[in-house]
Amino acid sequence: MNLLYKSTRNASLSVTASEAILKGLAEDGGLFVPEFIPQLDISMEELKEKSYQEIAYIVMKQFFTDFTEEELKDCIKSAYDEKFDTEEIAPLVKIGDTYHLELFHGATIAFKDMALSILPHLLTTSAKKNHVTKEIVILTATSGDTGKAAMAGFQDVPGTKIIVFYPKGGVSPVQERQMVTQKGNNTAVVALHGNFDHAQSGVKALFEDRQLQEKLAQSGYQFSSANSINIGRLIPQVVYYVYAYAKLLKHQQITAGEKINVTVPTGNFGNILAAYYAKEMGVPIKKLLCASNENKVLYDFFETGTYDKNREFILTSSPSMDILVSSNLERLIYAISGQDAQMTAKCMDQLKQKGVYEITPEMRERLSDFIGGYATEYETAKMICDTYRATGYVMDPHTAVAAYVCKSYQEKRDDLAKELVVSTASPYKFLKSVMTAIDEKYQTMDEFDLIEELHKKSGTPVPMAVSEIKNAKIRHRRECDVKDMEKTVLDILGIEV
Ligand SMILES: *Cc1c(COP(=O)(O)O)cnc(C)c1O
Repeated sequence: MNLLYKSTRNASLSVTASEAILKGLAEDGGLFVPEFIPQLDISMEELKEKSYQEIAYIVMKQFFTDFTEEELKDCIKSAYDEKFDTEEIAPLVKIGDTYHLELFHGATIAFKDMALSILPHLLTTSAKKNHVTKEIVILTATSGDTGKAAMAGFQDVPGTKIIVFYPKGGVSPVQERQMVTQKGNNTAVVALHGNFDHAQSGVKALFEDRQLQEKLAQSGYQFSSANSINIGRLIPQVVYYVYAYAKLLKHQQITAGEKINVTVPTGNFGNILAAYYAKEMGVPIKKLLCASNENKVLYDFFETGTYDKNREFILTSSPSMDILVSSNLERLIYAISGQDAQMTAKCMDQLKQKGVYEITPEMRERLSDFIGGYATEYETAKMICDTYRATGYVMDPHTAVAAYVCKSYQEKRDDLAKELVVSTASPYKFLKSVMTAIDEKYQTMDEFDLIEELHKKSGTPVPMAVSEIKNAKIRHRRECDVKDMEKTVLDILGIEV
């Protein structure tokens, strides 16, 4: 059976999986969603003995139905290999009485690697399948982790170029160094004078600009996206929820069919939406806890049914979650509206015009699987410190936000379900925040001198991603104002304005 993809804003448009991956964003500005969520066609009993790569194939073949078995297996094989520092790819670690699903064992030590190591392969395969001859320009806005992970994935991939915009001053020093030292003849990095929302809406506007697309086409280019709006990123993220459940079962931490809760540190709502898709596929998940930092627009949404981005943008110690417009929420709105494209388009239009929209009581009822929570900066730091003191485990601030939300949920509610906390970054990526949470004395130390200190404290090996950037050459120094993003893109591509 061929599963087609529709735009969240237009019921009449439908495309194949490979077309959706190539386009990134639908022409009407909507996001591509599968017409329905397929059911897992294999039992957890059978899944529990399978490898990550095998489970990846089992999940993705049900979504990417126009890929051949060989194509999909090739993509998976090229993605989930020695770039990851463990054969398990996504190991489960028990910390206290919660299970941490560590998604930071890839090349850039954040969970973005889980999807961005396969996206370039899915995209180039899609280009071949659809006889695309133009060079593909990946345009990406990053809150810190996507940019590096995307460049690592696309570096020197023939037929592609990648341009990354990150908010200047809005990412951690390690994140910034990782990006500006990026190698590859097809990579470009731009520090934007604005925050992540500026970067994201700027990139979206370029995607929707017909004139610009024509200009590009004349020069032999076409845009695509590596942001989590691309369905080619979302579906690979479903895999690790299936995998985690199967492994909990294998290690007899749960019994067959036992429902678990999942807490996800959330920004753009991609990771937690993948958990929701996994639940819809049949993975026994009870509650989805959506954890925010002080930019708690999602928490307020789950509490009130009103999404309101009109508020101060706060820079926190978990920069990859400093987001007020969570793009992937649009896919959830579409689902809870009963796949009502008109309703979804209306909400998104209100968001664009007024910065706020309200969902109907019926839609709110369909949100009952979700619970919002948030952690303040103080609570996040305290969580890192308390966990370290109690267990010796050092977690990054994003993970700590989730761990805190999970813990306070457990304390408040009478819910005995086992808790899975999604661990999205290595603490080595956020050295200053992590180390000062443990001991104030690190406040005055140089970020890069903290590498050794963290190594001593945690006993975990220093990841290559960190050791290799310490003395790496800076290769990208471009900056631009929000209003000049188009000009910058044209300049990078060598197109006359
Ligand atoms: C991107 C990111 C998040 C947020 O994930 P979304 O899919 O955008 O909700 C959380 N933690 C880290 C470390 C990230 O890089």
